[in-house]
Amino acid sequence: MLYIKPAAILTPDRVLEDGAVLVQGDRIAAVGLAADVPCPPEARQLPADGLLLAPGFIDLQINGAFGSDFTAEASAIWEVGARLPEYGVTAFLPTVVTSPLETVAGAQEVVSKEPPPGYRGATVLGLHLEGPFLNPEKRGAHNPAYLRPPALPDIARWSPDRGVRLVTLAPELPGALEVVRALRSRGVVVSAGHSAATLDQARAGLEAGITYGTHLFNAMPPLAHREPGLAGALLTGPGVTVGIIADGVHLHPAIVALVWRAKGPGQVNLVTDAMAALGMPPGKYRLGERDVTSDGKAARLADGRLAGCVLSLDQAVRNLVEFAGCSPAEAIASVTTVPASVLGLADSCGAIAPGRRSDLTLLDDKLHVVATLVAGELVYSTAN
Ligand code: ZN
Repeated sequence: MLYIKPAAILTPDRVLEDGAVLVQGDRIAAVGLAADVPCPPEARQLPADGLLLAPGFIDLQINGAFGSDFTAEASAIWEVGARLPEYGVTAFLPTVVTSPLETVAGAQEVVSKEPPPGYRGATVLGLHLEGPFLNPEKRGAHNPAYLRPPALPDIARWSPDRGVRLVTLAPELPGALEVVRALRSRGVVVSAGHSAATLDQARAGLEAGITYGTHLFNAMPPLAHREPGLAGALLTGPGVTVGIIADGVHLHPAIVALVWRAKGPGQVNLVTDAMAALGMPPGKYRLGERDVTSDGKAARLADGRLAGCVLSLDQAVRNLVEFAGCSPAEAIASVTTVPASVLGLADSCGAIAPGRRSDLTLLDDKLHVVATLVAGELVYSTAN
């Protein structure tokens, strides 16, 4: 049993000062004013003076980090997952970019198994498959050789219990809507992205069951006043959450502020879209089969196209506060309660409330990560 008495606690409805949290194993047992939640004599106390206790962060789009790329080497998911708590991340969707279907099947195999013995790190909630059903015109850094038209036989084994949690596709491609319906019926979240869809095509996708937009504005036509396109459909679609990359490179900070006014709080989700260069010095890295150069701020193909990111999720939170002028609590919700809701997991994670998973992040007053707990276990601390 663990007792945490920080300066403030982010609960689903307010910032609770002078509060305390009691953790029993992998669950939160109690949350309330410290006067109402006293420390049981048998509990261990986690030092948290002056700190903010937030739910653990959830990254819905991450291609790799620390020199490893999940598409090239799915087994690296565990090595990377063990270090993601450094950024406050307690759960993530390893993202596989457009690749042969056998590569996808191999990654499914990896995430469907139990983590290796002794694994202490962020929980893998399943894969995010970004491709291969993308529009070649908007492929970005994806390898055109592996793009395919959507087809039901290709997705026969894609389901959450086989390790597929989220699929990004272009809704305007022939056959896409049948694939959207089939994935939805199995509980896979479907997202629109790498797409040239018109407003009408995008709305047909939302009607078929798309509930998320992948890196809004990147790899899709810009918002035009006579053809709002996919961006317009995502920004105005009720119940649609947009993923954004708030690194200051993929989107101008003013656009982040605009997206926040249209969709925040509640329907803006920060993702990193991080690739192997995250947490590493500038240099050459891989994204799938492609060579990417990182200068420490952005990762690009040889032709200058952006290819993933070197952004950490805690930095994205700090950037959102700066770019959009929102509160730290609102920015943190966009990496906790919002992604948990997108995945349909809001009852189990993404919030500090009794009965939820004890995935927690302690932050200082500048929103830098001081300690991270996964399932009640301290997996990262700046004190160590
Ligand atoms: Zn992408």
